[in-house]
Amino acid sequence: MKRVLITGAAGFLGSHLCDRFIKEGMHVVAMDNLITGDLKNIEHLFKLEHFEFYHHDVSKFVFVPGELDYILHFASPASPIDYLKIPIQTLKVSSLGTHNVLGLARVKKARVLVASTSEVYGDPHVHPQTEEYWGNVNPVGPRGCYDEAKRFMEAITMAYHDYHGLETRIIRIFNTYGPRMRLNDGRVLPAFIGQALRGEDLTMFGDGSQTRSFCYVDDLVEGIFRLLMSDYHLPVNIGNPSEITIKEFGDEILKLTGAKQKLISKPLPKDDPKQRRPDITKAREILGWEPKVNRAEGLKITFDYFKSLTKDELNKVEHRKFN
Ligand code: UDP
Repeated sequence: MKRVLITGAAGFLGSHLCDRFIKEGMHVVAMDNLITGDLKNIEHLFKLEHFEFYHHDVSKFVFVPGELDYILHFASPASPIDYLKIPIQTLKVSSLGTHNVLGLARVKKARVLVASTSEVYGDPHVHPQTEEYWGNVNPVGPRGCYDEAKRFMEAITMAYHDYHGLETRIIRIFNTYGPRMRLNDGRVLPAFIGQALRGEDLTMFGDGSQTRSFCYVDDLVEGIFRLLMSDYHLPVNIGNPSEITIKEFGDEILKLTGAKQKLISKPLPKDDPKQRRPDITKAREILGWEPKVNRAEGLKITFDYFKSLTKDELNKVEHRKFN
């Protein structure tokens, strides 16, 4: 039986990965320090024989008994509200944490996949973004602690590949959504759906002309799985190329939820990327992957999830600083 370590296992993406690797018949070793993750996302797995959980911060020395075939490093705060609140931990988990994970992978002779991000492209001057584009990142801006840590993560992963011959994979994840997203993480989708459900107006930042491309979580997980099983070690974009302005997105959420409120404009946060869309030619050619779930289907499933939350959960919101 193959054994896989997943860091950030109690988070949005990590928990879906735990489900997938259990379904693949693997033994899942889950790790999370629960700083942004939530045990609720994986509590259904605790009864399984082939699931174990370590409450541990991967930025500190990592010890896992037994063999490991694969390691997926998905621990990191991942929303602007989080990394403004905990910038040092954000920097540490993708730098020190990645170093620990790579060291562990060497000892265990495991293949390691690290979760990078479209944020390595910053506010991009190339559109859509191809893997060859080096990006336009402000190292000292509000997103610097996340973007630069992820860029370091890619660099040290490549160094372990080239110097130590470690089997490594790097995925660049674009905006992803689905059930188990944190309602109060400040991201646009939970923010809009939460506001719609609470009867508040939807806070659109700027004039809403900035674009994003939203990928449903099951599609992303399929892409991660295929990349892990491939023999390709350079970065691969995984995301849905269907691009939409934030204003259009707000209108879609109003329609979907049947909410009678309106979109109101708030100041655009500093260094907010103006446009983002993945070029997925590599994923198509190398992995035979492309997204299957369109926004209408994905949003419906996600809305049903948010509707099932309790009133208390729905009212626990944090507001994003406008800076
Ligand atoms: N956004 C918005 N209203 C909100 C939250 C976000 O208009 O309440 C905008 C934000 O300015 C950005 C886009 O939605 O342009 C996506 O933001 P998110 O935080 O989800 O992720 P990002 O892609 O910026 O990391």
